[in-house]
Amino acid sequence: MIKKHFLLILLVPVLCFSQAGGGAYTFNPDNIPCISKEAKAQIKIELQKSINDLIQKGKLSQKKSAAAAQKFSWPVKTKDNADFTDVWAISNYVDHNKNFPDKVEDYNCGSRTYDTNSGYNHQGTDMYTWPFTWYQFENNIAEVIAAAPGTIIHKHDGEFDMSCDFNNNQWNAIYIKHSDGSIAWYGHLKKGSLTSKNKGDVVTEGEFLGVVGSSGNSTGPHLHFEVYDKNNNLIDPFKGECSSNISLWKEQPNYYEPHINAIFTHNVAPSFNQSCPEIEVTNITDQFLPNSKIFTASYYKDQLSGTTANYKLIRPNGSVFSRWNFDFSDTYTSSYWYWEWNNLANLGIWTFESSYQGQTVRKKFKIVSVLGIENHELNKITIAPNPFESSLKLIGFDLNKDNYKMSIFNNLGQEVFSATTFSDELDLQFLSKGMYILKITDKKNNRYKSFTLLKR
Ligand SMILES: [Zn+2]
Repeated sequence: MIKKHFLLILLVPVLCFSQAGGGAYTFNPDNIPCISKEAKAQIKIELQKSINDLIQKGKLSQKKSAAAAQKFSWPVKTKDNADFTDVWAISNYVDHNKNFPDKVEDYNCGSRTYDTNSGYNHQGTDMYTWPFTWYQFENNIAEVIAAAPGTIIHKHDGEFDMSCDFNNNQWNAIYIKHSDGSIAWYGHLKKGSLTSKNKGDVVTEGEFLGVVGSSGNSTGPHLHFEVYDKNNNLIDPFKGECSSNISLWKEQPNYYEPHINAIFTHNVAPSFNQSCPEIEVTNITDQFLPNSKIFTASYYKDQLSGTTANYKLIRPNGSVFSRWNFDFSDTYTSSYWYWEWNNLANLGIWTFESSYQGQTVRKKFKIVSVLGIENHELNKITIAPNPFESSLKLIGFDLNKDNYKMSIFNNLGQEVFSATTFSDELDLQFLSKGMYILKITDKKNNRYKSFTLLKR
């Protein structure tokens, strides 16, 4: 259900050998509600039960708090050492207009929110992962962290987490009560990723709660962050002309936060045409042969009309190979733009530099005479015997196996086996007869090699 708009732009001839592609990426274009009224009513009942239970056990105070309003830090964080500068963009804020349908008003009196025919006015802030939303999901790159210290009053896990459309599934979620009595909901989390802490346990601000997923009613990985005050009234943490005059954020982000979320070099043009929930093959790589195809790509959130992005390609000796600009004529919540090269010949470490709205991000890549050992390694692998009966041997594979992952899929595309470390001989007695695909992925460069297997 994620739609993409593609634009192809040919640049002026000043930049010979390069062309641009890219466009907007729209999350939840059909405005699927994050949670049904019935599910929400059920959650509220469970939360009240949980609170009563914790009061009885002495883990929560019965008194209504007189503490000052709890302030929040941002609840989504990039996993440490991940190759992204940021991982989220906002698709929807709280809808302050109680009428429906199509009567919407976010905190800034804009329309970055939605309602539905059935009378659902969006009640939280949706932060979706961008770019490579399912790749981030698969690799636990976008973490949900506690926006404020508090007590876990409820936790729900075990639900399917790769939803793409409207359904009646429940979501995986954590609910935290703060010292001022307010409660924050963190919804749509990845199955099995939730903190091992339980109901009644205390969390600190910034503590890991889970991974952004797509459990429940959802069209793709995003966090739904929803807040209630001590009297159980929904509140919008954003201060604005159409909301309250108090911001609950320690540092409220701007309505638009133009930002580079990532820059990468690829050996195949980036594309977001895959169908949900297929994990994107990123084709990110940082080693290329001289004069081979190289795609330099930048991934933006809140690209603003009338602004300009600047780029530079710098040779190994530090001299500028190319410098160019790109004017944005549209405002997009998320977008990507890439250029293709086939004339980079100097061996050594190059730098791709991307600047936007005061932010500069650099990505190093290598032009080498022989491709790196990891890539080379995948090419060497063969399997035997095929067809096989009970076990399969991997031949020509002798490097650090921790850098590789393997998976076997049946002919319906379902994963039936996966291992992050493995031996040269695979015992596959448990598989029934038939055709399978074995996929070996280089975790570092995200390259893979696949084999068709036949079990007799
Ligand atoms: Zn939502």
